[in-house]
Amino acid sequence: MRLVTVELSGKAVAGLLLNDQVIDLAAAARQCGEAVDASSVLALIQAGEPALQALKRITARAAELSALARPLGSVRLLAPIPRPTRNVFCVGRNYADHVKEGAVAQKADIKLPTVPQFFTKATHAVNAPEGDIRLDPQVSEKLDYEVELVVVIGKTGRDIKREQAFEHVFGYSVGNDVTARDLQRRHEQWFKGKSLDTTFPFGPAIVTRDEVANVQSLELTLSVNGERRQQGAVSQMIFDIPVLIEFLSAGLTLEAGDIIATGTPSGVGYAMDPPRFLANGDVVEASITGLGTLRNRVVAAGSR
Ligand code: MG
Repeated sequence: MRLVTVELSGKAVAGLLLNDQVIDLAAAARQCGEAVDASSVLALIQAGEPALQALKRITARAAELSALARPLGSVRLLAPIPRPTRNVFCVGRNYADHVKEGAVAQKADIKLPTVPQFFTKATHAVNAPEGDIRLDPQVSEKLDYEVELVVVIGKTGRDIKREQAFEHVFGYSVGNDVTARDLQRRHEQWFKGKSLDTTFPFGPAIVTRDEVANVQSLELTLSVNGERRQQGAVSQMIFDIPVLIEFLSAGLTLEAGDIIATGTPSGVGYAMDPPRFLANGDVVEASITGLGTLRNRVVAAGSR
């Protein structure tokens, strides 16, 4: 199943994406007599297995729900979780070729991490799948992109062992970990450079785990104005999803609805020679096979 959040009459509502149609899930639950809280995608995730079963029954009855369906092209998509309850967990330097390009760009020795490097992005960084990315030259002149596989936690837990890790995964999505490189370097600690408003386009849907046969086989790509910049495969991660969840959840409770951005492959703008940063009007497209595409325009502050 593909869960989306769309804006209907100025309100964010949870939707089921089926064959390019969006079905209002709260209305569908009412019509199907399901008692599940479908007021938001987050509420559905937090309701756990009973909600997942209700969603499956609703999906099976989709043909009866055509009066609730709207063409995807006619609605505005928001991020599937427009405002997470806490920061987005992120993983730095999780693809070897990206570690190497970073070391070369910074004239440092190439040293692969031996444990995952975690940081977070502030909740207000979350942006819609086609939302504008704000570029304020007064704040940063070095805005960069990073396509990433996003893992959404479905079952709360602590000290999760890698063998059980997938049981805690609700689903997957696409993220773009837009980064102000100058702030990331200047402040040393990455939080500031990773947390500017609109710098985490995420979506277009959360695809439930059962729909992804082999997450390792997924491929990530990113283009700027149609020019391919990044290409990689989830199988190239230094620390795979079970290992990331084991490390992150050690002594730290992961909650249903938590979002983990799992790192980016090579091809980022700052590591190009010469470096190329995002500029006003650029269109950034980030895709993962089977999960969808984010398409975001960079808009300079005051230009619209
Ligand atoms: Mg990143």
